[in-house]
Amino acid sequence: AFYTSSLHQKALDRITLLHSLRHALETDQFELYYQPQIGPGNAVVGAEALLRWKHPDLGFIPPANFIPLAEETGLIVPLGRWVLYQACHQSREWRNLGLDIPVSINLSSQQMKDKSILSLVENSVRKNGLAPENLHIEITESTLMENLDKNLVVLRSIRELGCLFSIDDFGTGYSSLSYLKTLPINAIKIDRSFIDGLPGDQQDAALGRAITAMARGLNLQVVAEGVETEDQLRFLTSVGCSIIQGYYYSKPIPARDFIEFTRK
Ligand code: C2E
Ligand code: CA
Ligand code: CA
Repeated sequence: AFYTSSLHQKALDRITLLHSLRHALETDQFELYYQPQIGPGNAVVGAEALLRWKHPDLGFIPPANFIPLAEETGLIVPLGRWVLYQACHQSREWRNLGLDIPVSINLSSQQMKDKSILSLVENSVRKNGLAPENLHIEITESTLMENLDKNLVVLRSIRELGCLFSIDDFGTGYSSLSYLKTLPINAIKIDRSFIDGLPGDQQDAALGRAITAMARGLNLQVVAEGVETEDQLRFLTSVGCSIIQGYYYSKPIPARDFIEFTRK
C-alpha cells in the first residue's frame, strides 16, 4: 500500500510540476544567471547562461529538478527559445556598456531536433546585433552522440552562421576519439567529475593532463568546469588548461552582479 501511494504521489507531483512549469513560462518566473569563465591574466572571457526558476510559492527550483521534465514534455523547446534570445540580449547590453563578453547557452537534445533551431539562432543573434562568434553553444557529449548524423547537420549549419560550439560534460559520454578531429567544434569542457579529485587523485590528474593535451593538439580550447580550489586551479594552469569556470572564481550570478564582477 505504501509503495502504490508513493508512486501515486510521484505521479501527482509530476503533474503539478508540469502545470506550474507551463504557467511559469507565461508569467516570467525564469531568470538567467551567468557564471564567469576566466582566461589568462584573470580576464573574463565568457559567461555561461544558466536557467533559474523562481517559483512564487515553492521558491527557488534548481534546473536539475525541472529541465529533465521540460525535456521529456517538449517544453524545453519554448523555454530554450527564451534562453537563447535572453542570453543574446544580455550580451548586447554588456556590449553597450563596453564589456566584450561572449555568452554560452546550453542546447538540449529536443532543441537539436527542432526544425526551426537554425533560424532561431540566426534571429536571436541578428536582432540583438551580435557578431555570431559571440554566441557559444554548449551541447553535452551524450546528446551529441545520441543522434550524431542528424546533429552534425545542425551543427554544421550553425557553424556556417559563425556561432561557436563546445562539447559539454566531456569525458562522461562515449564520443569516439576519431570523431573529435572532424567535428565542427571549438572547445571542450572537462566535466566536473574529473576536476573534483585534483590535484591529489592520480587518476584524475592523469585524465586532466591527457584531455588537455589532446584538446590542445587538436587546436581546441579547453574549459575546466567545477573548479573550486586554488590547488585545482594551479594544477590545471600547469597542464595548459587556459579557461576556468567554477566556484573558485564565482558561482552563477544575476546579470547585474556580473558587471560588478568584471570590474573587480
Ligand atoms: P551544466 O551545463 O554542466 O552547468 C554547470 C553546472 O555546474 C551548473 O549547475 C553550475 O552552477 C554548476 N557549477 C559550476 N561551477 C561549480 C563548482 O565549482 N562547484 C559545483 N559544485 N558546481 C558548479 P546548475 O546551474 O544547477 O545547472 C545544472 C544543469 O542544468 C546544467 O549543467 C545544464 O545541464 C542544465 N541547464 C541549466 N540551464 C539550462 C538551460 O538554459 N538549458 C538547458 N538545456 N539546460 C540547462
Ligand atoms: Ca553547460
Ligand atoms: Ca557541464
